[in-house]
Amino acid sequence: MQKSTFTPEEEQRIQQEFDVLVDVYEHSMHRQNTELIRRAFLFAKQAHDGVRRLSGEPYILHPIAVAQIVVREIGLGSTSVCAALLHDVVEDTDYTVEDLQGLFGDKIAHIVDGLTKISGGVFGDQASEQAENFRKLLLTMSDDIRVVLIKIADRLHNMRTLSAQPKDKQYKIAGETLYIYAPLAHRLGLFPIKSELENLSFRYEHPDTYKEIEDKLAAIREHQLENFDTFSQPIKEKLKAMGYEFTMKARIKSVYSIYKKMKDKNIPFEDVYDLMALRIIFTPHDGLPEKDQCWMIYSAITEIYRPHPERIRDWISTPKANGYEALHITVMASNGQWIEVQIRTNRMNEIAERGLAAHWKYKADERGENELDKWLRTIKEILDNPEPNAIEFLDTFKLNLFAREVFVFTPGGDIKTMPQGSTALDLAFQLHTQLGEHCIGAKINHELQPMSYVLQGGDQVEILTSPSQHPQADWITMVTTAKAQTALRQYFRREERAQIRKGEKLFNDALVMYNATEQHDTALQRTLNYYELTLPTELYLKIGQGYIQLDNLQQVIFPKKKSIWKRLNPFSSDSDTPTKTVEKTPEEKPTKTKIRKILLTDEGLGKQYVLCDCCHPIPGDEVFGFVDEKGLVHIHMIDCAVAQKIKSEQGKQLCAANWSTHRVQSFVERIAIRGIDKFGVLSKLLAVVTTEFHINLRAINLQSEGGIFHGEMELYVYDKKELQELFKALTQMPDIVSATRITKPK
Ligand code: MN
Repeated sequence: MQKSTFTPEEEQRIQQEFDVLVDVYEHSMHRQNTELIRRAFLFAKQAHDGVRRLSGEPYILHPIAVAQIVVREIGLGSTSVCAALLHDVVEDTDYTVEDLQGLFGDKIAHIVDGLTKISGGVFGDQASEQAENFRKLLLTMSDDIRVVLIKIADRLHNMRTLSAQPKDKQYKIAGETLYIYAPLAHRLGLFPIKSELENLSFRYEHPDTYKEIEDKLAAIREHQLENFDTFSQPIKEKLKAMGYEFTMKARIKSVYSIYKKMKDKNIPFEDVYDLMALRIIFTPHDGLPEKDQCWMIYSAITEIYRPHPERIRDWISTPKANGYEALHITVMASNGQWIEVQIRTNRMNEIAERGLAAHWKYKADERGENELDKWLRTIKEILDNPEPNAIEFLDTFKLNLFAREVFVFTPGGDIKTMPQGSTALDLAFQLHTQLGEHCIGAKINHELQPMSYVLQGGDQVEILTSPSQHPQADWITMVTTAKAQTALRQYFRREERAQIRKGEKLFNDALVMYNATEQHDTALQRTLNYYELTLPTELYLKIGQGYIQLDNLQQVIFPKKKSIWKRLNPFSSDSDTPTKTVEKTPEEKPTKTKIRKILLTDEGLGKQYVLCDCCHPIPGDEVFGFVDEKGLVHIHMIDCAVAQKIKSEQGKQLCAANWSTHRVQSFVERIAIRGIDKFGVLSKLLAVVTTEFHINLRAINLQSEGGIFHGEMELYVYDKKELQELFKALTQMPDIVSATRITKPK
């Protein structure tokens, strides 16, 4: 690049910005190592000499700004400040990591190296490239968290100066920021940075909507602030009377979070009620626990304003996984508006603003693990077992980054933090892989529940295991955490490899039996062709799993000429023709006895067959039929107890039955519902059933006892799928504990 000296005004500006950096640093709580910072600045300045940013500014202003963010907004020390000043040197100039190592030592060089490695965008052109870059980011993060913190600072400054970039780059950078950097900042507890990143991304991605909300907000701002003064005045007096030193801030929701709320709740701007919150940051008195004092303030406030009983958030007893501590309450102002009040001590505020990362322990001899340590450890574990499929990895990781948390208790009373939506099986894997692989269910609050049970905050969970239990393919649908998904995939891969080996051995043994070992390759190719497979491993796997039987291998590898014709003729009954058994589950092996197969259609109802009262089968259920002496077919569910008995007694009278797809006839189904008896729960329940699902009710009977209601409903449904969807919707309602089908007779 063409070197040119900057104008005296520019030189002066550079010096000014650096002086600001030094000033902020010297007022921070860190060890004073200004000399090192000065050296890093001078080195970076000459390395980037003459280079300008797209905005036309001297390039060095960017690293200085990043260093300012690092110390002022994240609260890091001299090592990070130097690394921030030097962060683009290796990437953009001729200097190497080794040069930095010699000049500034291992640690700084190491961090700059990490930053250089992840300097490319997370979004490559290819999805796989994207995932790989993301992996790199996580690797460097688990290596030294400061790398990612500085990267976030770098991104924040780039977002603040994004207008200088061309439009297409703006979109790309804004998208990437919203996709990964804002959630990362959130996960690391950097709330102000997270909000700013989100807000800036939103502004560049949706400039019109942004402007619209911004204008509406500006229009009511004055009024809101006036209300705020009226609201906060009595609280101020109370706190003063209690002898507290404190600051009080009005927090107006960011444009982005207003937009999100409008979208999530599907409401207009005017209906977003919590535009404003009051934040109290106080210096606690000596000699009394912080927690007690927060509750004393709570008590003082609720003497003035009425609290909303359901909107108390105690993040002090159990801090959020990212370290956040505070007591949130919502009270009603004199004008009838609900206002959130956040109560924090100075210490809690420090964590809320700069994240636990600011308190990151560098020393290896420090004992004790906080939630951040634990989270980083999970990342390391996931990285230690990289997914062969990069996209899956990206998905599972992203899943964990966004999740909110619930707290559950072990039988011993330990608290475990799990992402919201986690199941008992997720928790089992979280505790130990062995526990997960042998999980058969869980006792939730002393009640037996399946492993797919979705954990609720405050649950006491005991994982039940059995040595004979092993993961099944559908388990993957029961877990949501990266850890459990990764563990299951690994298990299946291990299992698959074993089955491939087994299948290969079975195949080779069969060749020995048919004296065909000489023609191994031909035999293999013929078998592949026959089963329409391409890879030998696919074939071996299917053999190993029992989906392909080798009983007819001889016919497959030594086909008689005529049998080719027969294979093409589906009506041939010649026994020479090998039967394909591919894609049949082992349980479904064809039996010798001829069984009649009937199709259950609407027309047949009432004529050819009857649906039994004992188990109430509906379309979609796995069913079978039993023919009575009059020739009428009785349809039962496969696992119906009555049917089990009939099956064992009347083996010959059985027939297979399949449902035809239809939505004509509806069936009466009985379902049981349990939930918390709260005002309005019944009308909400009925709204889901009748308005959302358009299901007709035949009968309903609910009883309430001790705050819990339970009852039965009789519904007209079309098939199992509809019923399952209804159950899913019902159990997602906050006050419904369970919704299940009743298959026992009345
Ligand atoms: Mn940079």
